[in-house]
Amino acid sequence: MAWFTKTRKPMAPPEKASRVPEGLYVKCPSCTQVIYNKDLAANLGVCPGCAYHFKMTAAERLAMLFDGEYTVHDPGLVSTDPLEFTDTKPYKSRLQSSIASTGGNDAVVTATGLLEGIETVIAALEYSFIGGSMGVVVGEKVTRAIERALGRRAPVVIVSCSGGARMQEGALSLMQMAKTAAALARLDRAGLPFISVLTDPTTGGVTASFAMLGDLNIAEPKALIGFAGPRVIEQTIRQKLPEGFQRSEFLLEHGMIDMVVDRRELKTTIARALRFMGATPAEAAAAAPVAQDAGAAAERT
Ligand SMILES: [Zn+2]
Repeated sequence: MAWFTKTRKPMAPPEKASRVPEGLYVKCPSCTQVIYNKDLAANLGVCPGCAYHFKMTAAERLAMLFDGEYTVHDPGLVSTDPLEFTDTKPYKSRLQSSIASTGGNDAVVTATGLLEGIETVIAALEYSFIGGSMGVVVGEKVTRAIERALGRRAPVVIVSCSGGARMQEGALSLMQMAKTAAALARLDRAGLPFISVLTDPTTGGVTASFAMLGDLNIAEPKALIGFAGPRVIEQTIRQKLPEGFQRSEFLLEHGMIDMVVDRRELKTTIARALRFMGATPAEAAAAAPVAQDAGAAAERT
């Protein structure tokens, strides 16, 4: 969702074909195998036939990474539509329909819990909420999550799945790039690890800010990762792009990311990396879930 190209449709609807539908069976878009939905869920949304990675919701992502219960932060933050923006329809009604369909108030869920016993702050982007785009609320929640990690001396994991900055919030959405990057710089100075997980797709302002700033940048297989889309680049440089351009494996080969990890090994890989970076399992006392945050601005550190 490049905010700088006027020719592109402002917001593509979530790709229904590559999501896990509600029905009993789902067809793999890669190998066309018909998979029983429960089998797919048990396999973490990975096709047992060809290892195609279906999209995951933010809630599924957190459930996959945390050991058990976790505390969700700032669920009440909602965009105020500061520009009173209207494209093909008013931004306010886009927000309302996304809130109704996802059950969340914006495109990220941030939470604290245990990951293989290590207290970790995780932010997971929700693609079905306006393409997982980053506006003021996403920027603020990610920043607060990093600040919480600073306060608790915990590592941060951000799972990106986003079309980029939210054009309906104009320059305000672009400012979130600097804001989240500055918060990560503070985390870095405090010597706390940040692991970025890039999933299909991670593009635009999210790639250009926190998604590429990890101490370790891990991508899921065959994820589309880039800044501008391939069509825009081809038009700009007037050259045909190579096969597999902007896919995880290509980026790994060219040194843009550190690892490509199958989702089924993601949690163990993250835990191993966190331990390598000096994280230690939390005390039993810290494991008790804290009361749900009120989401009040007053609690900002
Ligand atoms: Zn398949």
